[in-house]
Amino acid sequence: MDICIVGAGYVGLSTAVGFAEHGHRSVCVDINQKRIEDINSGVCPIFEPGVEEALRRSISKELLKATLDLKGALETSEVVFITVPTPCDDSGKMDTKFIDKASKDIAKYISSYKVVVVKSTVIPGTTESVVMKNLEAAGKKHGVDFGLCMNPEFLREGHALEDFLKPDRIVIGSADIRAGDVLEKLYEGFNAPMLRTDIKTAEMIKYASNSFLATKITFANEIGNICKLLGIDVYKVMGGVGMDKRINPHFLRAGCGFGGSCFPKDVSALLNKGREAGHEPRLLDTVLKVNADQRKLMVRHLRSKMDLKGKRIAVLGLAFNPDTDDVRESAAIDTVQGLIEHGADVSVYDPKAMDNFRKLFPGITYAKSAKDALKGADACIIATDWDEFKKLESKDFDSMKNKVILEGRKTLDKSKVKSFEGVCW
Ligand code: NAD
Repeated sequence: MDICIVGAGYVGLSTAVGFAEHGHRSVCVDINQKRIEDINSGVCPIFEPGVEEALRRSISKELLKATLDLKGALETSEVVFITVPTPCDDSGKMDTKFIDKASKDIAKYISSYKVVVVKSTVIPGTTESVVMKNLEAAGKKHGVDFGLCMNPEFLREGHALEDFLKPDRIVIGSADIRAGDVLEKLYEGFNAPMLRTDIKTAEMIKYASNSFLATKITFANEIGNICKLLGIDVYKVMGGVGMDKRINPHFLRAGCGFGGSCFPKDVSALLNKGREAGHEPRLLDTVLKVNADQRKLMVRHLRSKMDLKGKRIAVLGLAFNPDTDDVRESAAIDTVQGLIEHGADVSVYDPKAMDNFRKLFPGITYAKSAKDALKGADACIIATDWDEFKKLESKDFDSMKNKVILEGRKTLDKSKVKSFEGVCW
Protein backbone atom coordinates (compact mmCIF):
# COMPACT_ATOMS: atom_id res chain seq x y z
CA MET A 1 0.00 0.00 0.00
CA ASP A 2 1.03 3.63 -0.40
CA ILE A 3 1.25 5.49 2.87
CA CYS A 4 1.79 9.11 3.85
CA ILE A 5 3.24 9.73 7.33
CA VAL A 6 2.89 13.25 8.69
CA GLY A 7 5.61 13.85 11.30
CA ALA A 8 8.92 12.03 10.84
CA GLY A 9 10.06 11.71 14.46
CA TYR A 10 10.61 8.59 16.62
CA VAL A 11 7.16 7.20 15.86
CA GLY A 12 6.74 8.42 12.27
CA LEU A 13 10.11 7.21 11.09
CA SER A 14 9.82 3.86 12.88
CA THR A 15 6.38 3.41 11.30
CA ALA A 16 7.73 4.20 7.83
CA VAL A 17 10.72 1.84 8.00
CA GLY A 18 8.60 -0.78 9.76
CA PHE A 19 5.97 -0.83 7.00
CA ALA A 20 8.77 -0.80 4.40
CA GLU A 21 10.03 -4.08 5.92
CA HIS A 22 6.57 -5.43 4.97
CA GLY A 23 6.86 -4.08 1.42
CA HIS A 24 4.68 -0.96 1.83
CA ARG A 25 5.77 2.37 0.33
CA SER A 26 5.85 5.46 2.56
CA VAL A 27 6.34 9.15 2.02
CA CYS A 28 7.33 10.92 5.24
CA VAL A 29 6.22 14.54 5.47
CA ASP A 30 7.79 16.88 7.98
CA ILE A 31 8.11 20.63 8.48
CA ASN A 32 11.79 20.32 9.36
CA GLN A 33 13.82 20.66 6.14
CA LYS A 34 17.07 19.33 7.66
CA ARG A 35 15.20 16.21 8.80
CA ILE A 36 13.87 15.68 5.27
CA GLU A 37 17.35 16.04 3.76
CA ASP A 38 18.85 13.66 6.32
CA ILE A 39 16.21 11.00 5.72
CA ASN A 40 16.55 11.20 1.93
CA SER A 41 20.31 10.82 2.19
CA GLY A 42 19.94 7.75 4.44
CA VAL A 43 20.95 9.51 7.64
CA CYS A 44 18.66 8.78 10.57
CA PRO A 45 17.89 12.08 12.36
CA ILE A 46 17.38 10.23 15.67
CA PHE A 47 19.44 7.55 17.38
CA GLU A 48 17.38 4.38 17.43
CA PRO A 49 19.02 0.93 17.10
CA GLY A 50 18.45 -0.64 13.67
CA VAL A 51 16.49 2.29 12.23
CA GLU A 52 19.29 3.80 10.12
CA GLU A 53 20.09 0.42 8.52
CA ALA A 54 16.38 -0.18 7.86
CA LEU A 55 16.07 3.36 6.49
CA ARG A 56 18.85 2.73 3.96
CA ARG A 57 17.31 -0.62 2.97
CA SER A 58 13.93 1.08 2.44
CA ILE A 59 15.43 3.90 0.36
CA SER A 60 17.37 1.50 -1.84
CA LYS A 61 14.16 -0.46 -2.54
CA GLU A 62 12.36 2.85 -3.24
CA LEU A 63 9.96 2.16 -0.37
CA LEU A 64 10.67 5.35 1.54
CA LYS A 65 11.27 9.00 0.83
CA ALA A 66 10.75 12.23 2.72
CA THR A 67 9.35 15.57 1.61
CA LEU A 68 8.07 18.95 2.76
CA ASP A 69 5.31 18.67 0.13
CA LEU A 70 2.22 17.33 1.91
CA LYS A 71 -0.04 17.90 -1.10
CA GLY A 72 2.13 15.75 -3.38
CA ALA A 73 2.55 13.06 -0.73
CA LEU A 74 -1.23 12.83 -0.21
CA GLU A 75 -1.97 12.46 -3.91
CA THR A 76 -0.23 9.09 -4.11
CA SER A 77 -1.34 7.71 -0.71
CA GLU A 78 -4.21 5.52 0.36
CA VAL A 79 -3.54 5.78 4.11
CA VAL A 80 -2.35 8.91 5.97
CA PHE A 81 -0.82 8.54 9.43
CA ILE A 82 -0.60 11.52 11.77
CA THR A 83 2.46 11.14 14.02
CA VAL A 84 3.05 14.71 15.19
CA PRO A 85 3.86 15.60 18.84
CA THR A 86 1.17 15.89 21.52
CA PRO A 87 2.97 17.64 24.38
CA CYS A 88 1.32 19.04 27.48
CA ASP A 89 0.66 22.76 27.81
CA ASP A 90 1.69 24.74 30.90
CA SER A 91 -1.39 23.60 32.81
CA GLY A 92 -0.57 19.91 32.20
CA LYS A 93 -3.35 19.36 29.63
CA MET A 94 -2.69 17.83 26.22
CA ASP A 95 -1.88 20.55 23.72
CA THR A 96 -3.73 19.95 20.43
CA LYS A 97 -1.86 22.56 18.37
CA PHE A 98 0.24 20.12 16.29
CA ILE A 99 -2.67 17.73 15.66
CA ASP A 100 -4.90 20.68 14.80
CA LYS A 101 -2.40 22.11 12.29
CA ALA A 102 -1.56 18.74 10.71
CA SER A 103 -5.23 17.78 10.26
CA LYS A 104 -6.13 21.20 8.84
CA ASP A 105 -3.27 20.85 6.33
CA ILE A 106 -4.41 17.33 5.39
CA ALA A 107 -8.00 18.53 5.04
CA LYS A 108 -6.87 21.21 2.57
CA TYR A 109 -5.23 18.77 0.18
CA ILE A 110 -7.40 15.64 0.22
CA SER A 111 -8.79 15.13 -3.29
CA SER A 112 -9.85 11.46 -3.23
CA TYR A 113 -10.82 8.91 -0.51
CA LYS A 114 -8.08 8.52 2.15
CA VAL A 115 -7.99 6.67 5.41
CA VAL A 116 -6.72 9.19 7.95
CA VAL A 117 -5.12 7.47 10.96
CA VAL A 118 -4.19 9.23 14.18
CA LYS A 119 -1.15 7.43 15.62
CA SER A 120 -0.10 10.27 17.91
CA THR A 121 -1.19 9.71 21.50
CA VAL A 122 -4.31 11.84 21.88
CA ILE A 123 -6.66 12.28 24.83
CA PRO A 124 -10.05 10.55 24.35
CA GLY A 125 -12.29 12.62 22.14
CA THR A 126 -9.50 14.40 20.23
CA THR A 127 -9.62 12.35 17.01
CA GLU A 128 -13.27 13.22 16.59
CA SER A 129 -13.30 16.74 18.07
CA VAL A 130 -10.15 17.96 16.28
CA VAL A 131 -9.31 15.74 13.29
CA MET A 132 -12.84 14.79 12.15
CA LYS A 133 -13.99 18.36 12.79
CA ASN A 134 -11.17 19.89 10.72
CA LEU A 135 -11.74 17.48 7.83
CA GLU A 136 -15.46 18.19 7.81
CA ALA A 137 -14.94 21.95 8.20
CA ALA A 138 -12.95 21.83 4.95
CA GLY A 139 -16.01 20.35 3.20
CA LYS A 140 -14.81 16.71 3.20
CA LYS A 141 -17.46 14.07 3.84
CA HIS A 142 -16.79 11.25 6.29
CA GLY A 143 -17.20 7.91 4.51
CA VAL A 144 -16.95 9.53 1.09
CA ASP A 145 -13.78 11.65 1.04
CA PHE A 146 -12.15 10.12 4.09
CA GLY A 147 -12.32 7.33 6.64
CA LEU A 148 -11.00 7.85 10.18
CA CYS A 149 -9.04 5.58 12.52
CA MET A 150 -7.13 5.86 15.76
CA ASN A 151 -4.21 3.43 15.98
CA PRO A 152 -2.16 4.01 19.17
CA GLU A 153 1.53 3.20 19.10
CA PHE A 154 3.10 1.29 21.99
CA LEU A 155 6.78 1.23 20.93
CA ARG A 156 9.55 1.97 23.41
CA GLU A 157 12.36 4.31 22.41
CA GLY A 158 15.55 2.26 22.24
CA HIS A 159 13.51 -0.68 20.84
CA ALA A 160 11.30 1.27 18.44
CA LEU A 161 11.67 -0.82 15.29
CA GLU A 162 11.63 -4.14 17.10
CA ASP A 163 8.48 -3.10 19.01
CA PHE A 164 6.80 -1.76 15.87
CA LEU A 165 7.44 -5.01 14.00
CA LYS A 166 6.56 -7.30 16.91
CA PRO A 167 3.86 -5.53 18.91
CA ASP A 168 2.01 -7.24 21.78
CA ARG A 169 -1.21 -6.10 20.12
CA ILE A 170 -2.47 -3.85 17.35
CA VAL A 171 -5.36 -1.61 18.36
CA ILE A 172 -7.54 -0.20 15.59
CA GLY A 173 -10.22 2.23 16.64
CA SER A 174 -12.37 3.28 13.73
CA ALA A 175 -15.27 5.57 13.06
CA ASP A 176 -16.39 3.37 10.15
CA ILE A 177 -15.85 -0.28 9.22
CA ARG A 178 -14.40 0.48 5.78
CA ALA A 179 -11.51 2.56 7.18
CA GLY A 180 -10.79 -0.01 9.91
CA ASP A 181 -10.70 -2.78 7.30
CA VAL A 182 -8.17 -0.87 5.17
CA LEU A 183 -5.93 -0.41 8.21
CA GLU A 184 -6.33 -4.06 9.23
CA LYS A 185 -5.20 -5.05 5.72
CA LEU A 186 -2.14 -2.80 6.02
CA TYR A 187 -1.12 -4.73 9.14
CA GLU A 188 -1.55 -8.09 7.42
CA GLY A 189 1.54 -10.19 8.05
CA PHE A 190 2.17 -8.71 11.52
CA ASN A 191 2.05 -11.59 13.95
CA ALA A 192 0.04 -9.86 16.70
CA PRO A 193 -3.47 -9.98 18.14
CA MET A 194 -5.71 -7.36 16.57
CA LEU A 195 -8.21 -5.42 18.67
CA ARG A 196 -10.95 -3.50 16.83
CA THR A 197 -12.67 -0.80 18.88
CA ASP A 198 -14.36 2.55 18.53
CA ILE A 199 -12.11 5.59 18.38
CA LYS A 200 -12.39 6.81 21.99
CA THR A 201 -11.66 3.34 23.36
CA ALA A 202 -8.49 3.12 21.27
CA GLU A 203 -7.41 6.56 22.51
CA MET A 204 -8.05 5.53 26.12
CA ILE A 205 -6.23 2.16 25.81
CA LYS A 206 -3.00 4.07 25.17
CA TYR A 207 -3.43 6.41 28.17
CA ALA A 208 -4.50 3.59 30.48
CA SER A 209 -1.47 1.50 29.40
CA ASN A 210 1.06 4.28 29.95
CA SER A 211 -0.54 5.32 33.23
CA PHE A 212 -0.44 1.73 34.47
CA LEU A 213 3.25 1.32 33.54
CA ALA A 214 4.15 4.64 35.20
CA THR A 215 2.25 3.52 38.30
CA LYS A 216 4.06 0.17 38.32
CA ILE A 217 7.48 1.88 38.23
CA THR A 218 6.38 4.31 40.93
CA PHE A 219 5.19 1.42 43.09
CA ALA A 220 8.63 -0.24 42.77
CA ASN A 221 10.27 3.08 43.70
CA GLU A 222 8.05 3.45 46.78
CA ILE A 223 8.89 -0.08 47.92
CA GLY A 224 12.56 0.67 47.17
CA ASN A 225 12.54 3.76 49.39
CA ILE A 226 11.11 1.71 52.27
CA CYS A 227 13.51 -1.20 51.59
CA LYS A 228 16.54 1.10 51.73
CA LEU A 229 15.60 2.29 55.21
CA LEU A 230 15.07 -1.30 56.33
CA GLY A 231 18.33 -2.57 54.80
CA ILE A 232 16.57 -4.81 52.26
CA ASP A 233 17.56 -5.15 48.59
CA VAL A 234 14.48 -4.06 46.59
CA TYR A 235 15.80 -5.83 43.48
CA LYS A 236 15.64 -9.15 45.29
CA VAL A 237 12.19 -8.24 46.59
CA MET A 238 10.88 -7.29 43.13
CA GLY A 239 12.51 -10.41 41.68
CA GLY A 240 10.24 -12.39 44.00
CA VAL A 241 7.21 -10.18 43.39
CA GLY A 242 7.59 -10.35 39.60
CA MET A 243 7.55 -14.16 39.64
CA ASP A 244 3.82 -13.93 40.27
CA LYS A 245 2.30 -14.24 36.81
CA ARG A 246 -0.51 -11.87 37.78
CA ILE A 247 2.16 -9.18 38.22
CA ASN A 248 5.04 -10.09 35.79
CA PRO A 249 8.66 -8.95 36.19
CA HIS A 250 8.59 -5.93 33.84
CA PHE A 251 8.65 -2.29 34.98
CA LEU A 252 9.55 -3.21 38.57
CA ARG A 253 13.09 -1.78 38.49
CA ALA A 254 13.32 0.73 41.30
CA GLY A 255 15.46 3.79 40.63
CA CYS A 256 15.59 7.52 40.16
CA GLY A 257 12.14 7.93 38.59
CA PHE A 258 10.53 7.64 35.18
CA GLY A 259 10.95 10.21 32.43
CA GLY A 260 10.87 10.34 28.66
CA SER A 261 8.63 11.86 26.05
CA CYS A 262 5.53 9.83 27.00
CA PHE A 263 4.87 8.76 30.61
CA PRO A 264 5.07 12.18 32.33
CA LYS A 265 2.97 13.99 29.74
CA ASP A 266 0.47 11.17 29.24
CA VAL A 267 -0.22 10.69 32.96
CA SER A 268 -0.55 14.45 33.33
CA ALA A 269 -2.93 14.72 30.36
CA LEU A 270 -5.14 11.89 31.66
CA LEU A 271 -5.13 13.38 35.16
CA ASN A 272 -6.34 16.69 33.76
CA LYS A 273 -8.92 15.08 31.48
CA GLY A 274 -10.28 13.13 34.46
CA ARG A 275 -10.61 16.36 36.45
CA GLU A 276 -12.27 18.08 33.53
CA ALA A 277 -14.75 15.21 33.32
CA GLY A 278 -15.59 15.58 37.03
CA HIS A 279 -13.43 12.89 38.63
CA GLU A 280 -10.38 13.56 40.81
CA PRO A 281 -7.75 10.96 39.76
CA ARG A 282 -5.97 10.72 43.13
CA LEU A 283 -3.82 7.75 42.14
CA LEU A 284 -2.47 9.45 38.99
CA ASP A 285 -1.87 12.67 40.93
CA THR A 286 0.14 10.75 43.52
CA VAL A 287 2.13 8.90 40.85
CA LEU A 288 3.29 12.21 39.39
CA LYS A 289 4.09 13.67 42.81
CA VAL A 290 6.03 10.60 43.99
CA ASN A 291 7.92 10.53 40.70
CA ALA A 292 8.81 14.23 40.87
CA ASP A 293 10.23 13.58 44.33
CA GLN A 294 12.09 10.46 43.21
CA ARG A 295 13.85 12.39 40.47
CA LYS A 296 15.25 14.77 43.12
CA LEU A 297 16.39 11.94 45.36
CA MET A 298 19.90 11.57 43.97
CA VAL A 299 20.86 15.17 44.68
CA ARG A 300 19.20 15.01 48.12
CA HIS A 301 21.09 11.83 48.87
CA LEU A 302 24.41 13.30 47.78
CA ARG A 303 23.77 16.42 49.85
CA SER A 304 23.34 14.22 52.93
CA LYS A 305 26.95 13.11 52.34
CA MET A 306 28.64 16.38 51.33
CA ASP A 307 28.22 20.10 50.79
CA LEU A 308 27.98 20.32 46.99
CA LYS A 309 29.30 23.90 46.73
CA GLY A 310 32.40 23.91 44.56
CA LYS A 311 32.46 20.10 44.32
CA ARG A 312 33.02 18.41 40.98
CA ILE A 313 30.22 15.93 40.33
CA ALA A 314 30.23 13.54 37.38
CA VAL A 315 26.87 12.50 35.92
CA LEU A 316 26.96 9.41 33.70
CA GLY A 317 23.88 8.98 31.53
CA LEU A 318 21.71 11.82 30.21
CA ALA A 319 19.15 10.03 28.04
CA PHE A 320 15.89 9.05 29.76
CA ASN A 321 16.55 5.42 28.85
CA PRO A 322 19.51 3.52 27.40
CA ASP A 323 19.75 3.09 23.59
CA THR A 324 18.17 6.44 22.81
CA ASP A 325 19.42 10.00 22.35
CA ASP A 326 16.13 11.38 23.73
CA VAL A 327 16.52 13.54 26.84
CA ARG A 328 12.90 14.70 27.10
CA GLU A 329 11.96 14.65 30.83
CA SER A 330 15.07 12.61 31.60
CA ALA A 331 15.98 12.13 35.28
CA ALA A 332 19.39 13.64 34.49
CA ILE A 333 17.69 17.00 33.91
CA ASP A 334 16.47 17.25 37.52
CA THR A 335 19.77 15.87 38.76
CA VAL A 336 21.98 18.31 36.85
CA GLN A 337 19.63 21.20 37.66
CA GLY A 338 19.78 20.33 41.37
CA LEU A 339 23.57 20.00 41.33
CA ILE A 340 23.94 23.41 39.66
CA GLU A 341 21.52 25.02 42.12
CA HIS A 342 23.66 23.75 45.01
CA GLY A 343 26.84 25.16 43.50
CA ALA A 344 28.41 21.99 42.09
CA ASP A 345 30.74 21.95 39.10
CA VAL A 346 29.08 19.38 36.82
CA SER A 347 30.78 17.16 34.29
CA VAL A 348 28.60 14.83 32.22
CA TYR A 349 28.89 12.01 29.73
CA ASP A 350 26.40 9.99 27.65
CA PRO A 351 27.15 7.74 24.66
CA LYS A 352 24.44 9.30 22.44
CA ALA A 353 22.51 12.09 24.15
CA MET A 354 25.17 14.80 24.65
CA ASP A 355 24.03 17.01 21.74
CA ASN A 356 20.42 17.03 22.89
CA PHE A 357 21.41 17.69 26.51
CA ARG A 358 23.75 20.51 25.50
CA LYS A 359 20.72 22.43 24.18
CA LEU A 360 19.30 22.42 27.75
CA PHE A 361 22.54 22.90 29.71
CA PRO A 362 25.14 24.62 27.52
CA GLY A 363 27.30 25.76 30.44
CA ILE A 364 28.43 22.45 32.00
CA THR A 365 31.40 20.27 31.06
CA TYR A 366 30.78 17.61 28.39
CA ALA A 367 33.39 14.85 28.76
CA LYS A 368 34.65 12.62 25.95
CA SER A 369 34.11 9.41 27.88
CA ALA A 370 32.87 8.10 31.22
CA LYS A 371 36.47 7.89 32.45
CA ASP A 372 37.11 11.46 31.34
CA ALA A 373 34.02 12.69 33.25
CA LEU A 374 35.18 10.88 36.40
CA LYS A 375 38.63 12.52 36.52
CA GLY A 376 39.00 14.53 39.75
CA ALA A 377 35.31 14.14 40.65
CA ASP A 378 34.18 14.32 44.27
CA ALA A 379 31.22 12.09 43.49
CA CYS A 380 29.57 10.32 40.59
CA ILE A 381 25.90 9.76 39.80
CA ILE A 382 24.72 7.15 37.29
CA ALA A 383 21.39 8.17 35.81
CA THR A 384 20.97 5.91 32.73
CA ASP A 385 21.75 2.19 32.53
CA TRP A 386 23.72 2.14 29.29
CA ASP A 387 25.53 -1.15 28.57
CA GLU A 388 28.75 0.87 28.37
CA PHE A 389 28.46 1.71 32.08
CA LYS A 390 27.77 -1.92 33.00
CA LYS A 391 31.33 -2.67 31.86
CA LEU A 392 32.95 -0.13 34.21
CA GLU A 393 35.38 -1.59 36.75
CA SER A 394 36.74 -0.34 40.08
CA LYS A 395 39.94 0.91 38.42
CA ASP A 396 37.92 3.16 36.09
CA PHE A 397 36.87 5.16 39.15
CA ASP A 398 40.46 5.47 40.49
CA SER A 399 40.89 8.93 38.98
CA MET A 400 38.09 10.32 41.18
CA LYS A 401 39.09 12.54 44.09
CA ASN A 402 36.61 10.73 46.33
CA LYS A 403 35.03 7.47 45.34
CA VAL A 404 31.43 8.38 46.20
CA ILE A 405 29.35 6.54 43.60
CA LEU A 406 25.57 6.86 43.62
CA GLU A 407 23.56 4.59 41.36
CA GLY A 408 20.15 5.61 40.04
CA ARG A 409 19.50 2.60 37.80
CA LYS A 410 21.27 -0.50 39.15
CA THR A 411 23.77 -0.42 36.32
CA LEU A 412 27.15 -1.27 37.84
CA ASP A 413 28.23 -4.86 38.25
CA LYS A 414 28.99 -5.68 41.90
CA SER A 415 31.66 -8.17 40.85
CA LYS A 416 33.51 -5.39 38.95
CA VAL A 417 32.95 -2.32 41.13
CA LYS A 418 33.33 -2.79 44.88
CA SER A 419 31.77 0.16 46.59
CA PHE A 420 28.74 2.07 45.37
CA GLU A 421 25.33 2.86 46.71
CA GLY A 422 21.89 2.61 45.12
CA VAL A 423 19.49 5.50 45.40
CA CYS A 424 16.76 3.22 46.78
CA TRP A 425 18.48 -0.09 47.42
P1 NAD B 1 8.88 13.65 17.70
O1 NAD B 1 8.95 14.98 18.35
O2 NAD B 1 10.05 12.75 17.72
O3 NAD B 1 8.49 13.84 16.15
C1 NAD B 1 7.42 14.60 15.70
C2 NAD B 1 7.73 15.13 14.30
O4 NAD B 1 6.57 15.80 13.81
C3 NAD B 1 8.87 16.14 14.25
O5 NAD B 1 9.82 15.73 13.30
C4 NAD B 1 8.18 17.45 13.85
O6 NAD B 1 9.01 18.29 13.05
C5 NAD B 1 7.00 16.92 13.05
N1 NAD B 1 5.87 17.83 12.87
C6 NAD B 1 5.30 18.67 13.78
N2 NAD B 1 4.25 19.30 13.22
C7 NAD B 1 4.15 18.86 11.94
C8 NAD B 1 3.27 19.15 10.85
N3 NAD B 1 2.27 20.02 10.96
N4 NAD B 1 3.49 18.52 9.68
C9 NAD B 1 4.49 17.65 9.53
N5 NAD B 1 5.36 17.33 10.53
C10 NAD B 1 5.19 17.93 11.72
O7 NAD B 1 7.60 12.93 18.31
P2 NAD B 1 7.44 11.37 18.64
O8 NAD B 1 8.23 11.03 19.84
O9 NAD B 1 7.61 10.59 17.40
O10 NAD B 1 5.90 11.35 19.10
C11 NAD B 1 4.85 11.54 18.18
C12 NAD B 1 3.56 11.08 18.82
O11 NAD B 1 3.63 9.68 19.10
C13 NAD B 1 3.24 11.75 20.17
O12 NAD B 1 1.85 11.88 20.29
C14 NAD B 1 3.74 10.74 21.19
O13 NAD B 1 3.07 10.85 22.42
C15 NAD B 1 3.39 9.43 20.50
N6 NAD B 1 4.23 8.30 20.91
C16 NAD B 1 5.57 8.46 21.10
C17 NAD B 1 6.35 7.37 21.47
C18 NAD B 1 7.83 7.53 21.72
O14 NAD B 1 8.41 6.64 22.34
N7 NAD B 1 8.46 8.60 21.26
C19 NAD B 1 5.76 6.11 21.64
C20 NAD B 1 4.39 5.97 21.41
C21 NAD B 1 3.63 7.07 21.05
